[in-house]
Amino acid sequence: MYNTKAYSAASATSALSFTQIGRRDLTEHDVQIEILFCGICHSDIHSVRNEWSSVMPTTYPIVPGHEIVGRVTQVGSAVTKYKPDDLAAVGCLVDSDGTCPHCQANLEQFCPNLTFTFNSPDKHLGGVTYGGYSDSIVVDERFVLRVPTNLNLPGVAPLLCAGITTYSPLRHWGVTKGKKVGVVGLGGLGHMGVKFAHAFGAHVVVFTTSPDKKEDALRLGADEVVVSRNADEMQQHAGSFDFILDTVSANHDINAYLNLLRLDGNITLVGAPEKPLDVSAFSLIMARRSLSGSSIGGIAETQEMLDFCGKHNITADVEVIPIQKVNEAYERLLKSDVKYRFCIDMASLKSA
Ligand code: NAP
Ligand code: ZN
Repeated sequence: MYNTKAYSAASATSALSFTQIGRRDLTEHDVQIEILFCGICHSDIHSVRNEWSSVMPTTYPIVPGHEIVGRVTQVGSAVTKYKPDDLAAVGCLVDSDGTCPHCQANLEQFCPNLTFTFNSPDKHLGGVTYGGYSDSIVVDERFVLRVPTNLNLPGVAPLLCAGITTYSPLRHWGVTKGKKVGVVGLGGLGHMGVKFAHAFGAHVVVFTTSPDKKEDALRLGADEVVVSRNADEMQQHAGSFDFILDTVSANHDINAYLNLLRLDGNITLVGAPEKPLDVSAFSLIMARRSLSGSSIGGIAETQEMLDFCGKHNITADVEVIPIQKVNEAYERLLKSDVKYRFCIDMASLKSA
């Protein structure tokens, strides 16, 4: 085991602060990565504040962060895909059993024995896994991703969660040219959803509670923008959508969006509010609509998404911050005050 610098929270009500954590010595299949950038996902806040306690209680101290890009510093003797100095990335998953039907189908995100990048039992060191608000991480090469070399690195980091979490359901539900697609919430996930749905050729409508994001939404690839608090604007789209991706992090009226779906339309939740949502049976029944969910994406699909981004020059819009500003960034994120993802420059941790 070796020590590395990190930022952690000691309880649901503590601020994040500097600490030292242990990382395992490399096994033969491991890749050691010096972390250069790590995005701040709203899930980091839900976890730090233990808002998902009923499904995924947080073990403290917690080191969040699952949007990681960096450079390979060392590889184990059996590693074949990476060598020192390569760019590499790590997302929300660092292990799975590899044998269950979901793993066999390249859907590791649904493996019953998966290991998340943070707050999961650590099979190597005991305790829980520690995430990307850190100097360095050690990950089995099966869970390490290749980074296209033409993209700017801070903008790549958020692809590892916000990117794949929106890419995967848009692909799964067949979003292509000719489809009318809604994206609810223009935050970290939402702005990537807009970029991908636009790149797939769909007619994209953004639903936002923030009228001042209108211009940005159009620049990011939306064809139309609806201020969701305006009932008349909402009504104009009734019964017209093939697919809606809901990225909202807090409680909201899902029925208002169900009613915008056409016959057999689907709305997929990727946003994970703390409390259950109320669903009107009639909103579903009257047009055979469906409501579903989606969790990140498998490793192969994450690589496919990164390669797609390399080919089409897609990255996240980021505000790069030093790690010393992370607590302030959390407060701003809760007010939807970021365009559109905070990304931590880990060089700032070296001087911490
Ligand atoms: P974010 O950047 O904070 O974006 C959420 C957006 O939702 C906000 O920008 C805002 O958009 C809208 N919003 C916030 N509060 C609202 C409210 N009370 N009513 C209506 N709209 C509201 O968060 P994120 O990082 O994109 O994450 C979004 C959610 O997805 C979080 O719950 C996160 O935990 C979850 N998530 C799930 C997965 C998965 O695998 N399923 C992966 C990553 C994250 P406007 O200003 O445009 O209204
Ligand atoms: Zn995330």
